[in-house]
Amino acid sequence: MPEWSNWSGSVHATPAAVASPSSEEELQSLVANAAAAGRTVRVAGTGHSFVPLCATDGLLLSLDGLQGLVSVDAGAGTATFWAGTKIWQMGEPLLAHGFALANQGDIDKQAIAGALSTATHGTGAALGNLSSMLTGARLVLADGSILDVSEDSDAATLRAVRVSLGALGVLSQVTLRVVPAYRLYEKSWPENFDACLERVDELVAAYRHFEFWWAPPVDLCAVKTLNPTAEEIGVRDTEPPSGPLKRYINPERVDWSYRIFPSERDIPFNEIEFSVPAENGPACVRELRELMKSVHPDVLWPIEFRTVAADDTYLSPHYGRPSVTISLHQAAELPHEAFFASAQSIFANHGGRPHWGKWQTWTAEELRPLYPEWDRFAEVRRRVDPGGQFLNPFLRRILGE
Ligand SMILES: Cc1cc2nc3c(=O)[nH]c(=O)nc-3n(C[C@H](O)[C@H](O)[C@H](O)COP(=O)(O)OP(=O)(O)OC[C@H]3O[C@@H](n4cnc5c(N)ncnc54)[C@H](O)[C@@H]3O)c2cc1C
Repeated sequence: MPEWSNWSGSVHATPAAVASPSSEEELQSLVANAAAAGRTVRVAGTGHSFVPLCATDGLLLSLDGLQGLVSVDAGAGTATFWAGTKIWQMGEPLLAHGFALANQGDIDKQAIAGALSTATHGTGAALGNLSSMLTGARLVLADGSILDVSEDSDAATLRAVRVSLGALGVLSQVTLRVVPAYRLYEKSWPENFDACLERVDELVAAYRHFEFWWAPPVDLCAVKTLNPTAEEIGVRDTEPPSGPLKRYINPERVDWSYRIFPSERDIPFNEIEFSVPAENGPACVRELRELMKSVHPDVLWPIEFRTVAADDTYLSPHYGRPSVTISLHQAAELPHEAFFASAQSIFANHGGRPHWGKWQTWTAEELRPLYPEWDRFAEVRRRVDPGGQFLNPFLRRILGE
């Protein structure tokens, strides 16, 4: 039997079968045949989620055979990609058409469908998570039929599809709103934690993308900022970054957005992240820092603080409220449960909603009250997959199905 594990090694599965279709038709028949045989169907992007979203003992699909740009509609400002396209494969073809994604996360290794499905986000108070860019999608349902949904044809269903955890069907193509290609000026610097929080509103307003990392071993923040620029591409610093925060601080530089956003994450870790209402962000991160200093001084990994605009996607952690996302990490080979559980309690007190791809222990009972339109997602899910073909035990736990 084939073995599957996620990026951090925290999830293992033994699917009965794995398949990587090379056409939409092949994908349709794989799904229909598995459903007819009573096999659960899950699809993995690149396995960068820390929780068992992709795990199955049924059919595990990879869309690595369905990658690349399908078309660009310059007039509408949209681009359609095969769902298995990795984010790192999107920048160049978009630039060739004069376009770019409005925002990206910390890395660009994920499949675009995987990133959309868990509401993956970057930072920027005026910018929604990646799923907020989705204007249309093609979804293979359990019987092998195609649901072609767009903002124009069925906006309500699209609000479910945007963040759907692979629980509605298999995305084969996704259409995203894009923006004219732009260059970014990156500037990072070390800052004292209290000083950073005192002027956090000012920094959030001054930069299109602002974030900071608080590094426990040195009790300092690395502030990272990006703003659009018309300046020429190049590195501005003459000296490489130095000092205790140098691994968080890139040289001051200018480049196309898709080359500036991603960082390298080559040491495996596990992660918890919650989104809290933006106004609770500073108090929440203060409590988390105290927790680390007083109870978990052994954890050397940083806290990351970012901002995300509100949206109206049923299962988006950013639904209806400008948000601050705060994430904590621990080395993959070290225990993380007790540390993450304490952090989860702090997030709960600040109205936190968990990142769907990251560690958390809640069930539908805790989650449902946090999402005003939770039941609408459930209605769409039951309509498009009445047999629960795409549900694994983890999804049944968090969705309450
Ligand atoms: C090093 C690292 C850095 C990260 N940085 C960020 C960050 O900056 N911001 C952030 O928000 N998150 C971040 N994450 C979390 C990550 O972006 C999400 O977990 C994301 O969902 C992973 O994408 P993936 O392609 O690996 O999807 P997977 O983890 O493989 O799958 C995620 C979900 O998508 C579903 N899915 C995948 N493909 C399809 C499809 N074709 N159709 C339907 N459903 C599908 C899966 O079934 C599953 O439910 C990071 C994770 C890691 C490990």
